[in-house]
Amino acid sequence: MFELLKKVLAPIGPSGLEEPVAAVIRQELAGFVDTMETDALGNLICVRQGRGEKPRKIMFSAHMDHIGFVVTGIEKEGFLRVTNVGGVGLNVSLTRHVVFSNGVNGVVVSEPVTGERAMKHMFIDIGAKDKEEAESMVRLGDMAVYAPDCFRLGEYRVASPAMDDRCACALLVKLMQTIGDTQDTVIAVFSVQEEVGCRGAKVASFALAPDIGIALDVTAWGDTPGTTQPDIKLGEGIGVKVMDRGSISNPQLREELMACGERAGVKTQREVLPFGGTDASSMQTSRGGIPVCTLSLPCRYVHSACEVIDMRDMEAGLKLMQTYLGK
Ligand SMILES: [Zn+2]
Repeated sequence: MFELLKKVLAPIGPSGLEEPVAAVIRQELAGFVDTMETDALGNLICVRQGRGEKPRKIMFSAHMDHIGFVVTGIEKEGFLRVTNVGGVGLNVSLTRHVVFSNGVNGVVVSEPVTGERAMKHMFIDIGAKDKEEAESMVRLGDMAVYAPDCFRLGEYRVASPAMDDRCACALLVKLMQTIGDTQDTVIAVFSVQEEVGCRGAKVASFALAPDIGIALDVTAWGDTPGTTQPDIKLGEGIGVKVMDRGSISNPQLREELMACGERAGVKTQREVLPFGGTDASSMQTSRGGIPVCTLSLPCRYVHSACEVIDMRDMEAGLKLMQTYLGK
């Protein structure tokens, strides 16, 4: 699982520019699915047809995009003014290494500020001597993300930028690689633009009209000094969401998934997140409404350059989903 995770974490894929991530996933899933399509927004949709008489359509969604910065202006001294793409934290971004899709490196810096720091104080230093040189390296509208930096932390844990939500992408890849024939049709959607409003999952769930929607995403943590919410601990199993600010899980589906965890002999954690949302929010309100739930990988320091997950929670999630699909 670690080698697969590393591969899926490596591509640069800010919201709206997820194709390099899709390319890696396509390669991994070649031969494991019946169809693979990319829609107009860039969602990668991989389907395994069910063998049952009346197969239900079960859609899993894991987002490929990564939060970042977009260039809004270039100063005469060659520094880039930026704004956020998704929920970027200013303080955790200071002096961070970022990289643009074309490979240009940068460091995120702030003007000296008295009072509260805002996005207008931030800039990226790309080492250009003036505006002209900067313009030869980067254009207005180009996006940068925290530079790839995946490393193991202790025996079971892995730290990296873009863990949100590539760890779930890797998990969904692994599920499709291992599932074999199932009664129900399994649709793996590797979605785009989640971090800017769950847009990819919105169009995918409309187009695919699934009977059931399951989002795979990270959640926050409550197991480091001074944190209390959510009541989620790394290494204690996959989270089964009750609700967050975007969706309320279907109670039957939620309990069924909890029961599958038990049958699979893996640990699960009931999850209530007092903020945030996942692709489930878009799936739930698609068409006439779709029963949804989110399976959440506990993740420390979400939306930083060092998002930490526990590989044991990924394994627990895999077994739970295999059991749910009748394996
Ligand atoms: Zn996410």
